[in-house]
Amino acid sequence: MTITEAPVTATPLDRARAALRARLLADRVLIDLGSPGLYGRTGVFERVYTAVDTAAVRSMADLDSEVLRFPPVEPLAAFERTDYIASFPDLAASISGFTGGDRKHRELLAARERGERWESFLEPADLMLAPAVCHPVYGLVGDTVQQAGRSFDIVGDSFRREPSLDPMRLQAFHMHEFVHIGTPTSAKAHRDEHIPVMRSLLEGFGLDIDVVPANDPFFGRVGKILARNQVEQALKYEFVTPVYGDAGEATAISSANLHEDHFGLSFGLRTEDGEVAHSACLAFGLERITIALFAAHGTDPAAWPAAVRRALTL
Ligand code: AMP
Ligand code: ZN
Repeated sequence: MTITEAPVTATPLDRARAALRARLLADRVLIDLGSPGLYGRTGVFERVYTAVDTAAVRSMADLDSEVLRFPPVEPLAAFERTDYIASFPDLAASISGFTGGDRKHRELLAARERGERWESFLEPADLMLAPAVCHPVYGLVGDTVQQAGRSFDIVGDSFRREPSLDPMRLQAFHMHEFVHIGTPTSAKAHRDEHIPVMRSLLEGFGLDIDVVPANDPFFGRVGKILARNQVEQALKYEFVTPVYGDAGEATAISSANLHEDHFGLSFGLRTEDGEVAHSACLAFGLERITIALFAAHGTDPAAWPAAVRRALTL
């Protein structure tokens, strides 16, 4: 029996999402932490997640990337330069801290005693939760990037404020990004040459994959125009898989994104020939790939098709 949390008026997609979520919780793949899109992870999840990440890294071995790791928070100044708040204010989240004295603390405690929210007693701390793991790198490469470009391997925590009961839509998740900063030609080649590599990796996991122009959720009225431009210019592609079959659109589990001169301009990056640097990112959504595997093959990896287990060296 599946436990459905969706009300009877729910659409087939709501029901499909609720059923997958209920199954992942009942079979102890994920643990509900009591806030939508926030989960604890068990051993079976970690085993598959680690295998996915290892296979993803192996697929990018030709890049000879420089490995970088960053904390899950980024300085406000770096966040500013990415322009993220202009496009996705609803997904952004900031850190606050208590900076008051005894008096303000007493007020906070009194509000808490009355059962009121007390977070308004905290002050913005000039730190943002990182919505994408590549953000800090653009501020670190110096003004001039060698003509051949540089590639980076970056994995870490991402936070996006999009609470949802869809187990594919988390608030806290990880992406493994392979970033290139170089010339217009080398950045475009980075994206284009690895699209087939990513596709065959994900298909090797026994997933149905389509590669489609991305349709990011840009905010507001201006966002609608930005979203249309994004599709028309086809700078970013997503690797989507039909986790919920015919009940809803396929979900993006990875992406390949050419930023052109976006970060080069805002971070003042040039290549040795004096031209503005271009950049591109290949991003594996690690939880999404892992959950897509559980959705496609069931919650017991021992029972997965032999070819899938081989591809993941499980
Ligand atoms: P993006 O920068 O939006 O292309 O994100 C890179 C990858 O991260 C996507 O292809 C997804 O696989 C994954 N991702 C994005 N948002 C979420 C989310 N809310 N929950 C889980 N994974 C996500
Ligand atoms: Zn990136």
